[in-house]
Amino acid sequence: MSNCDPRISIVIPAYNEEECIEECVFEVRSVMDRLDTPYEIIVVDDGSTDSTFGELRKLKSEVAQLRGIRFKRNCGQTAAMDAGLKHANGDLVATLDADMQNDPSDIPRMIEMMDKWHVVCGVRRKRSDSWLRRVSSKIANGVRNRLTHEEITDVGCTLKLYRRECLVGLKLYEGMHRFLPTLLRLDGWRVAEMPVNHRPRPRGQTKYGVWNRVFKSFRDLLAVRWMQSRWLRYEIEEEL
Ligand code: UDP
Ligand code: MG
Repeated sequence: MSNCDPRISIVIPAYNEEECIEECVFEVRSVMDRLDTPYEIIVVDDGSTDSTFGELRKLKSEVAQLRGIRFKRNCGQTAAMDAGLKHANGDLVATLDADMQNDPSDIPRMIEMMDKWHVVCGVRRKRSDSWLRRVSSKIANGVRNRLTHEEITDVGCTLKLYRRECLVGLKLYEGMHRFLPTLLRLDGWRVAEMPVNHRPRPRGQTKYGVWNRVFKSFRDLLAVRWMQSRWLRYEIEEEL
């Protein structure tokens, strides 16, 4: 299938994922090939110090749909996501992690929901992470939802599908990938949730500790609350 005019873009941020990236790209390809729709796979190497980009170079000759972007240095997951979203050409854009914790075979069901929704967010049904991670993210999601008057079950799940038109006016800041559904709702887009599969990381290391994430995302939460309270909400009554 040609990728000259992709209908679906799959964006994958990757930081030091040399042990997973090949299998991840192959898995995404095998799911997307079954859909019979042109697609592209955009891996954004967020300044890896291992051979992640070397792996992508090798893969490129085998996977025509693959595109690789490499940052000069590590800039964080939101930056990698932003670059991938901006380079995407598809009408639909999916995001997923490079470590194979997300399962690309959920993407076809997400696509089916796109006639009614603008964004579909995965909710990891059975989290394959440590007890401490599961509890801390449950608390974080609870606090976040309470303070932003939201009902997003699992912001930490990277597996999401967007209509590209929603992303055009989006301005992201560091850490804001966790608030994408809220920011998009503020913009007036319809955001749905869907239960998805979650698997243990087969190889490599998580890039986050529990505590650094809690403190940073609390600061981001206050910024989002401020944005919600200062959002411009006006309706035009009449025009001449
Ligand atoms: N990641 C990234 N830049 C970073 C940290 C992480 O691009 O600075 C990527 C990472 O390679 C993975 C995804 O973001 O594809 C999620 O990271 P990780 O799996 O470590 O997070 P966890 O699943 O443990 O929450
Ligand atoms: Mg992970």
